[in-house]
Amino acid sequence: MMENMMEKIVSLAKRRGFIFPGSEIYGGLANSWDYGPLGVELKNNVKKLWWERFVHRRDDILGIDSSIIMNPKVWEASGHLKEFKDKLAECKNCKKRFKASDTRNDTCPACGHKSGFNMEVKDFNLMFQTHLGPVLDKKALVYLRPETAQAMFVDFKAILDSASVKIPFGIAQVGKAFRNEITPGNFIFRTREFEQMEIEYFIREKEWQKYFDYWQEEILKWIESVGINKKRVHLVEVKERERAHYSKRSVDFEYEFPFGQAELYGLAYRGDFDLKNHEKYSGTSLKYRDPDTGEEFLPHVIEPTWGVDRSVLAILLDSYEEESKGKEKRTVLRLLPQLAPYKAAVFPLLANKDKLIKLARKVYEDLRGNFFVAWDDRGNIGKRYFAQDEIGTPFCLTVDFESLENDEVTVRDRDSMGQERIKIEKLESFLHDKVYSKGR
Ligand code: ATP
Repeated sequence: MMENMMEKIVSLAKRRGFIFPGSEIYGGLANSWDYGPLGVELKNNVKKLWWERFVHRRDDILGIDSSIIMNPKVWEASGHLKEFKDKLAECKNCKKRFKASDTRNDTCPACGHKSGFNMEVKDFNLMFQTHLGPVLDKKALVYLRPETAQAMFVDFKAILDSASVKIPFGIAQVGKAFRNEITPGNFIFRTREFEQMEIEYFIREKEWQKYFDYWQEEILKWIESVGINKKRVHLVEVKERERAHYSKRSVDFEYEFPFGQAELYGLAYRGDFDLKNHEKYSGTSLKYRDPDTGEEFLPHVIEPTWGVDRSVLAILLDSYEEESKGKEKRTVLRLLPQLAPYKAAVFPLLANKDKLIKLARKVYEDLRGNFFVAWDDRGNIGKRYFAQDEIGTPFCLTVDFESLENDEVTVRDRDSMGQERIKIEKLESFLHDKVYSKGR
């Protein structure tokens, strides 16, 4: 990876409207980021691809979209109220606070002093609190969910009652999660508000190893399918003392980010920890009844989990390239066409020729029915190409004077920079093949 990759990505993201600092006109809000017009497209495409792959194209996984604020008993049952904590360490010199696990010796990562840390600082629960309704009393205390997973357990009975499902099966959800992280940072890698894509896959206990291995492979296949460099991903077995309180086995999928190797995705065997506790705390049976044998039992769970924002970051890092050919230099985002914000850009060769504009406008508007397409009529064509390369647009379609004669446009490929002439009536199927043939 190039030097200063994070700076390059952060700068491109801001300059071209992928991601910018949140609340910037007020001086920002620590480590909050907003997805701009191109970023929201990229992020939505990641989520869409995930949903299609794991929900739409499978018989055994159902989707839900639950409330972010749940009954607070959920977090008592799940163990998050008691266990979801980071120990704080406060530098004795500069008084900055860190996750205790991030301070391996006496040297402060911020000021560099070796005076050590104040460890008596109390435990710190990572869940955000708020109050439901106008009265700020303890009874109204609720939490913003720190993971999307719990809803899959809480809604488990509703799914059993409303859909015909047979073990093994999964419940999937994509949505926001909130953690009052002590040390957010590294752009969108660690924020206090982020998105997850999670599956709880319900199985029989005796088959846990088989499905653990299966989901490990599925995560790896996903990584390849979205254009993340597999060579930069390392599977790390999480040691027992470092595992989350619910986990019987965990494997982290760590990626070589420019700031160091860190978790991209996770896989955990949660046993029957969650269903058992929700059964206990809610007093509602959450047992599954085998339709063939009549046997009743609490399923065990394998949980593959993906961070949306960390996906976006890894995808941006792996698709960014700077190229120079002779005098010309270009920056190109080699995004998978399905992930690219725009699938194509339409250019009239010149902006002051009515006939050209009219035909180009028609090409643009016709394609817009099925694809998100950009329009650009400013400056010379070379500049327009480079502007689209930088945001990952796979194809540029130029309408020129010949187009008026023969109904063909010049299609220029982002990666090879090669050009070919294609009939206007064939553009739709050309784009469809190119955009949707890969990554499925
Ligand atoms: P970390 O060790 O980096 O704090 P974690 O082990 O607590 O992560 P999980 O609880 O397994 O993370 O969450 C599932 C996924 O959600 C992670 O693999 C990651 O992609 C994403 N994620 C977790 N915390 C954050 C955060 N603060 N900002 C952005 N994404 C996050």
